[in-house]
Amino acid sequence: MPFSPVDLHLHSTASDGTLEPAVLVARVAAAGVRVMALTDHDTLAGLAPARAAARGWGICLVDGIELTAAWRGRVLHIVGLGIDPASPVLSGAMAELKERRRERARRIGEKLTRFGIEGAYEGARRLAGGGVIARPHFARHLVACGHAADTDEAFRRYLKKGRPGYVATEWPELEQVIGWIHAAVGRAVLAHPMRYRLTGAWLRRLLAAFTEAGGEALEVSCGSHTRQEFERCLGLARRFGLMGSLGSDWHGGDSPWSQPGRIPPLPGWITPVWQDWWEPARIEAIETGT
Ligand code: AMP
Ligand code: MN
Ligand code: MN
Ligand code: MN
Repeated sequence: MPFSPVDLHLHSTASDGTLEPAVLVARVAAAGVRVMALTDHDTLAGLAPARAAARGWGICLVDGIELTAAWRGRVLHIVGLGIDPASPVLSGAMAELKERRRERARRIGEKLTRFGIEGAYEGARRLAGGGVIARPHFARHLVACGHAADTDEAFRRYLKKGRPGYVATEWPELEQVIGWIHAAVGRAVLAHPMRYRLTGAWLRRLLAAFTEAGGEALEVSCGSHTRQEFERCLGLARRFGLMGSLGSDWHGGDSPWSQPGRIPPLPGWITPVWQDWWEPARIEAIETGT
């Protein structure tokens, strides 16, 4: 099983993860990870409690976020790393997005009601516990009520595009999302590039647009990538001159393809996204696990 002591893509209960930020940090540290980024969807709320816990476990926490972006009618995920959680531009945008997500959740609930499933909005909101509401909260509620055997089935039957609970959402454009990350002095990473099911030509178009907009890195190593996809991403990063990032995208469950740190480390030739964040000696210690 490949392992990396650096894992820069993780979720807590501040968005759609199942572990509280402090519990997540403890679990990630116990797995042997030494540098982690908390990258909750569209919220900064988990960062302060995660930071307090990280201090206790001697784990280095990178402030992060995962933003949803629109590009040519498609939906993409952009991870922001090394962001300033106090950035007024970023926190203002997140407050608005949280509201937009709540409105979207209401509409998902209405559509499911019309389909004969009552109370899904309330159920999802309860599971989100005051945090950002995302589709996995609906999926978990539907499973708990017996409408699906597992969350994967709930997505397939009710929540994916073309299904009865799907609501098309106007997400901010790619350029705007990268602009928010830069306003918060962070680096923009295109998350899980192979999960968008793009053809080679579209993927190259996307990477050209992402680079043009100032995006800095590609998440080449990721919990849901096969070895072959990892190699392909490395080739794309080289071709477009992007730095490399990596993350399990663990949401706290026991999914076989996503566990903290269970991802291939970056090869030595690629510039890591954390280049120049810390002193060279510290970077070497992290990378060699000494
Ligand atoms: P949202 O941002 O509300 O559209 O929710 C997207 C999140 O749902 C992703 O970040 C994943 O965590 C999760 N997700 C997407 N597709 C699936 C699926 N087929 N099965 C389980 N979880 C999924
Ligand atoms: Mn998620
Ligand atoms: Mn994602
Ligand atoms: Mn994610």
